[in-house]
Amino acid sequence: MPNVKNWQLGRDMSYPFEERHPKWQFAFVFNTNRCIGCQTCTMSCRSTWTFSKGQEMMWWNNVESKPYGGYPLNWDARLLGMLEAANPGGQVWNDKGKFDGLTIFEAAKKRTAGPGGQQAPGGQQALGYLPTDDEMRSPNTWEDTPTGGKFKREGQYGDSVQLPEHKIWFFHLARICNHCTYPGCLASCPRKAIYKRPEDGIVLIDQKRCRGYRKCVEGCPYKKAYYRPTTRTSEKCVGCFPRVEGKDKTISPTGAPAETRCMSACVGKIRLQGLVEIAKDGTWVTAPENPLAFLVREREVALPLYPQFGTEPNGFYIPPRWVPRDYLVQMFGPGVQKAIDQYSCPDRELLAVMQLFRASRQVIFRFAIEKGPKVAEVEVTMPDGSSKTQEIYNDTVLGFNKADEEVVRITVEEPTFERAADAHVNSI
Ligand code: SF4
Ligand code: SF4
Repeated sequence: MPNVKNWQLGRDMSYPFEERHPKWQFAFVFNTNRCIGCQTCTMSCRSTWTFSKGQEMMWWNNVESKPYGGYPLNWDARLLGMLEAANPGGQVWNDKGKFDGLTIFEAAKKRTAGPGGQQAPGGQQALGYLPTDDEMRSPNTWEDTPTGGKFKREGQYGDSVQLPEHKIWFFHLARICNHCTYPGCLASCPRKAIYKRPEDGIVLIDQKRCRGYRKCVEGCPYKKAYYRPTTRTSEKCVGCFPRVEGKDKTISPTGAPAETRCMSACVGKIRLQGLVEIAKDGTWVTAPENPLAFLVREREVALPLYPQFGTEPNGFYIPPRWVPRDYLVQMFGPGVQKAIDQYSCPDRELLAVMQLFRASRQVIFRFAIEKGPKVAEVEVTMPDGSSKTQEIYNDTVLGFNKADEEVVRITVEEPTFERAADAHVNSI
């Protein structure tokens, strides 16, 4: 297997194909602190792409309640267990932030390697499993179910719900296909029916080439590829590519990229989609004025989901502040505490950028900040118990689309409007 660079692991890794990178990469940031589990995103995707016969078990967008929920049931615990079995005690990050364990590609190679260390014919390219119909029957089992059996009942919840870590907790994890840099689905397909678009990195299944072997369902560690029995092919999230191509002129008359349906519909304003520019060697072009690049690479406040799987997912999450850190480190890697520290007491620039979540249906390629007056000082208790003063400025943040047209202008303080006493426009 060739060696490829994986910045999320802090090292190179084995992958079945040579590196080749798109010019732009579809990416997104979800703020788990804000998700209310309303499933509006889920239903907006469903009513757009997966309402037909044979698609009943397809939830290209799903929102699961962690730690117990998952679609398919226990998808992540199951794969983490398989990786642990392949490399007992070795699935760890070292203190420099490098992953010393095995990815799904390396674990598969180890399991099926022939005598010369070569991949055995017919062996798995990515460690994975095929979920059963039972595991896929209910998309939201364990909804809103907290964990924490050891909390004291006296005085009901007492100190069980105090930051930095609640003793009783759950959180909503919204998920779509991560349009990975090194997709497990693509690596596993014996028909080479899966491809990554050079213009935006969206991963698609060619329906004419697919023969429904379900190897992608097995090889996607996030279980975001699905089999459709009525067509005997597999299908997956298409990243709403017509919108990303700027085909919806009602959103942008000049044909600038629009956000996907699930992003646009998000009630909790937890989602920000973007396109990030990728250099020929696969690194992100330095662009601190791009909100995605700012949150992910510049500030590292948003982290990849299970980076240790090795697919270099392009979905990033601001971790939930109240959840035990060891659980979060397992899910998002070693940057959890740094991300939570920044999010707990955002500085002026970060607070301004955070206003861009769901402020426009167009993809924002650049932001700018116009400085405003200081409006408040707030004492914040940090996760380590120390105290910090947060200065809040009523800055105005501007967002620009791909054509560099201004598409959003929003202030940090939400403006209030008072209706004139004699205006009753809503009266019927
Ligand atoms: S999340 Fe799964 S289906 Fe999506 S690109 Fe990655 S491996 Fe493929
Ligand atoms: S629409 Fe937004 S807030 Fe509601 S469940 Fe989906 S991601 Fe969460």
